[in-house]
Amino acid sequence: MAEYMSKDTICIQSGYKPGNGEPRNMPIVQSTTFKYSDSDAMGRLFDLEDSGYFYTRLANPTNDNVAKKICELEGGYAAMLTSSGQAANFFAVFNICECGGHVVMCSPIYGGTFNLVSTTMKKMGVECTIVSPDDDEDTLNAAFKDNTKCVLAESIANPNCSVLDFEKFAKVAHEHGVPLIVDNTFPTPINCNPIKWGADIVTHSTTKYMDGHGLGVGGAIVDSGNFDWDKYADKFPGLTTPDESYHGIIYTQKFGKAAYITKATSQLMRDFGAIQAPQNAFYLNIGLETLHLRMPKHVSNAVKVAEFLASNPKVAWVNYPGLKGDKYYERGQKYMPNGTCGVLAFGMKGGREASKAVMGNLQLACIVTHVADARTCVLHPASHTHRQMTDEQLIAAGILPEFIRLSVGIEDADDIIADLKQAIDKI
Ligand SMILES: *Cc1c(COP(=O)(O)O)cnc(C)c1O
Repeated sequence: MAEYMSKDTICIQSGYKPGNGEPRNMPIVQSTTFKYSDSDAMGRLFDLEDSGYFYTRLANPTNDNVAKKICELEGGYAAMLTSSGQAANFFAVFNICECGGHVVMCSPIYGGTFNLVSTTMKKMGVECTIVSPDDDEDTLNAAFKDNTKCVLAESIANPNCSVLDFEKFAKVAHEHGVPLIVDNTFPTPINCNPIKWGADIVTHSTTKYMDGHGLGVGGAIVDSGNFDWDKYADKFPGLTTPDESYHGIIYTQKFGKAAYITKATSQLMRDFGAIQAPQNAFYLNIGLETLHLRMPKHVSNAVKVAEFLASNPKVAWVNYPGLKGDKYYERGQKYMPNGTCGVLAFGMKGGREASKAVMGNLQLACIVTHVADARTCVLHPASHTHRQMTDEQLIAAGILPEFIRLSVGIEDADDIIADLKQAIDKI
């Protein structure tokens, strides 16, 4: 339970709480190790008998403070930081889906996640079946197998901006006895709480809006504590049978609702070591302190920019769930009534070359491999993130050759629009 009801207050006050005479700002605990005077006391930490810090690869107080804030913002039960969004999604899935398991993955999805699950995890013996956010229940049901361990989806997909039908996906996942994992990077917990709509586990690339200033790569995993692992004990032996690397403890028995995050920390973080640097967690916390101010501005700017683009005769199409008439507008209104995010996609009528020319003409907006930042930026997937694909493959992946991903920042909306206008007028 969050101590504060309002997300605005959680952004500012949650996480680190100073005692008398302690620093008001959250200290960066820049230490790999923690001191004990009693050998047995440290031994009990190694056995998970006591909780406490002993080595930063497993846990660090600065990181835990920031994870607590993100946990409260998402309405979760337990959370952890990871070194990147990639590590967050990998741990979130691998914690319950090992060799021999199967993932139902909703795509369009972030390209890094697509590669992780469909190529790298495949080499680890994990299969996946791709479904579409628009599939009906029968089609979704048909994607499940006996060895399915989870459903993975994004609340707003990067880069095509489709909005997840949370209730439909949660329902089918739960009917098959598996959790729904949602990457909530784009709307952030300010605009959407997937747990409220049935998601069991939420992941983030904190690199994006949460940091907000392009300072540090990072990730987070939040567990709702709602999924009943013991009810489907045979599907999730990693949580419900003894862990030999901890003298046979059973996570669900010993840690209850904290079982999933405890296993991810004490086993995956121990063994893979994808910990976020405490220094980066400190930067992330500064970002979180203004997340509730930045998100509404990203949204209001993006709505104005989307309306401008949609009314420009040289623009072929605009994808933005906050734009009236968009395919995902109603779903966006339902799950994100305060707005979706600042990212949108559009294409020029002149195709690939016209889109590239417009990008080259931009002055305020920069071309960067980044998104969801305070500064307006653009990326052309066909030339950048999806460069290895042919036009046919791009179209099959739902990314047209003229597709521009525009991440609307928190500058003045009129200045952003003026920049786009002069760039488009020149072609
Ligand atoms: C960027 C991104 C990721 C990967 O995060 P990194 O912090 O770059 O590792 C995962 N999911 C989404 C939706 C993203 O936008």
